Amino acid sequence: MYAADLISIYEDAPIENVYDLTCNKRNPLLYHETLYQYISTLVRSHSGSNRIQHLHSWWSTMTRNDKLPKHTHTHNRRERTVSGVVYEQGDTLNLYIKNIGENEQKFETDFARTILFSGTSEHWTDKFTGTKVRRCLAFDYAILDQGSCKCKTEICIRCVHHKFDRLGFQILASSPAEKEIYIKQNLNEILKEGLFKEGPVALSIDKNKYRRL
Ligand SMILES: [Zn+2]
Repeated sequence: MYAADLISIYEDAPIENVYDLTCNKRNPLLYHETLYQYISTLVRSHSGSNRIQHLHSWWSTMTRNDKLPKHTHTHNRRERTVSGVVYEQGDTLNLYIKNIGENEQKFETDFARTILFSGTSEHWTDKFTGTKVRRCLAFDYAILDQGSCKCKTEICIRCVHHKFDRLGFQILASSPAEKEIYIKQNLNEILKEGLFKEGPVALSIDKNKYRRL
């Protein structure tokens, strides 16, 4: 297994009352020092690095019949990113995580359980059938002294998100945020085409001239 695809599970996060204190905040993790320090410690342990940086955190709520669609968390940066989630309330709902090139794995969610995985791993849930609102706090961290992959001149699915310009697609966007959305959408197209299924491709400014290394 690729080392960055490690999945870690921890119990007993200090999550009680955090929702009420932070639910109206952007990046709620930064507004609760105890939970922030707890999660940061887990990310250090999980990644084996002390040079970590919180990128983004948010509350995710689900009500009956909601379903988290398959997605990844990509950031336009070269470092390895670790994504995670800590559960706060709601009935159990399985989380599926699929590392690149592996079969999906199923994880049960539970109060105060934290699950850490690679930002490049697709993840999703079944349809939520519980009655009480399901709440969890999700977050992304960058590991500042680790790269997303070992590529130098090549491009692979683990680094394409920050080398997208080099693929030779012209991106007309009115803002960095719009460009980011465009890249994410096209990244999914690239995945569907299977372009990266068999490892890195050589660089080319012509989309039709990719070749496998
Ligand atoms: Zn790469």
